[in-house]
Amino acid sequence: MTYRGRFAPSPTGLLHAGSLAAAVGSWLCAKHARGQWLLRMENIDPPREVAGSAVAILAALPAFGLMADAPVIYQSSRAAAYDAAFEQLKQARLVFPCWCSRSDLAAADGIHRDGRCVAEPDPHREPAWRIRVPDEDIIFDDALQGEQRQNLRDAVGDFVIRRVEGFYSYQLACVVDDAWQGITDVVRGSDLLDSTPRQIWLQRCLGLPTPRYLHLPLVLDAEGRKLSKSERSLEVDASDPLPALRRALAFLEIKSDQNAVNAGDLLDSALAHFDPKNLPHCSDHHLA
Ligand code: GLU
Repeated sequence: MTYRGRFAPSPTGLLHAGSLAAAVGSWLCAKHARGQWLLRMENIDPPREVAGSAVAILAALPAFGLMADAPVIYQSSRAAAYDAAFEQLKQARLVFPCWCSRSDLAAADGIHRDGRCVAEPDPHREPAWRIRVPDEDIIFDDALQGEQRQNLRDAVGDFVIRRVEGFYSYQLACVVDDAWQGITDVVRGSDLLDSTPRQIWLQRCLGLPTPRYLHLPLVLDAEGRKLSKSERSLEVDASDPLPALRRALAFLEIKSDQNAVNAGDLLDSALAHFDPKNLPHCSDHHLA
């Protein structure tokens, strides 16, 4: 099967050093495998969206030499597919409505475990919807981090797939769209490593294939914090792409031509040296 990779940014701010490293890493893996690299704008969470950032991210990527091999997919246009997946889970009785408040959940360490809501049903309020999880380890072999395992019941419990406001969760939308776009290989930052067992569980429940996964090390800021928390200070400048692109390649420990004069040549020189086996492992972020 032809390799199909993807980059799936959320429009919650401009492209920053961390998301650029994920974009470059996923692009290099796809091109190294002579595959396709697709783009998906994960704009399913209107309250968290920062106006203008989807357009800015999509405009910045080509400046860094990162061209998609197909038109970009917007999750905002995929509601019917998420509704269908939700209906499928409902028919299979794998999901249940939940009216729990924070304090209801706090009594159980914030984790919902029993496959049913502990609060009383409230016909006057919309519920959230949770999926039941098994008391067993979900195991997968990360191409960079090695074997990973997580017991969903212990680590996350029955998780929300549709919020009270009616928005579908990242986990559900991501799984539905990875399958729909025919993604064979997910390459992304290791901040998402602990979402992967939930996504594999959803794939199993929906009868969807599980792609291969490779989680890149996480770019931290000078204080060791995840960049998403301090995005503004590390936004990348698409009008002067070479410095940020060089930093992303250096972070991923990929050799490239220091004399390259444009982003496309720099990326091509990196591709010539690239082998996913030589990517640095992540040592600072593991599954709970
Ligand atoms: N949209 C997610 C984010 O920006 C990434 C999703 C993914 O790569 O699976 O954090």
